[in-house]
Amino acid sequence: MRHDNAYKNDSCLICGGEGEFYHEIAGYVIDRCRVCGFAYVRDIPSDFELFQVYDQGYKTREGLFAPKLRKSRKFKYWLLGRMIRLAAGRGKVRLLEIGCGQGSLLQAVSNDRHFDAEGIDYAQGPVDYARSLGLKASQSSLEQMQYAPESFDFIVAIHVIEHMQNLDTAIQEITRILKKGGQLYIVVPCLSHIKARLNGKRWKYLGPPEHLWYFTTQALRTFLEKRGFQILFAHCISHRAHLRVLAKKI
Ligand SMILES: [Zn+2]
Repeated sequence: MRHDNAYKNDSCLICGGEGEFYHEIAGYVIDRCRVCGFAYVRDIPSDFELFQVYDQGYKTREGLFAPKLRKSRKFKYWLLGRMIRLAAGRGKVRLLEIGCGQGSLLQAVSNDRHFDAEGIDYAQGPVDYARSLGLKASQSSLEQMQYAPESFDFIVAIHVIEHMQNLDTAIQEITRILKKGGQLYIVVPCLSHIKARLNGKRWKYLGPPEHLWYFTTQALRTFLEKRGFQILFAHCISHRAHLRVLAKKI
């Protein structure tokens, strides 16, 4: 299959190391850095190609969008809200969730007067649902929002950055709109998790063009440290292959 490319990754975005062939999936070559273990799609798809992929997905989701209302989900986001509250400390927390979906986190903190929370997402259906609950959600990209510098105390991005076409630009924008001393909580699939190692090419998260970047714990640490963050924790100790990182802008 022929793909349109936005740009080519000639070397590792994180450490500049040389990449070697890792896997080929759906016509996309994934390289892996010999030095730090970061893996990435070699030829990053064009806007047009990504739009087609996501537009199809969104159409389905829009047409059939039904909110997830399980109690376990509510509890999970309540717990995340508590974790953010504890990590952020005293005072008002201006919170941004990138990729807020149906607004589960925004809803979980909506009754806590210490939070001033908002979210953005590409998908219209979930954003409309969040807004119908009275939550502050926008259907937008991060760049389109044009937030003022140092707008937020806390930024959350759960299963978001592995999708971003321009990872470097996105992290620059996150850094710009986060206050000094503010915190960033990221969750991504974890390439160093035992499930990734055991499943190899069949690992469910190896899915270009949706997933373009594959972090190990060390790779994500290095990525954020090089961009001015101090890592508060970084681990994928879970039955799920999820890498969780809490980092502070210094
Ligand atoms: Zn590297």
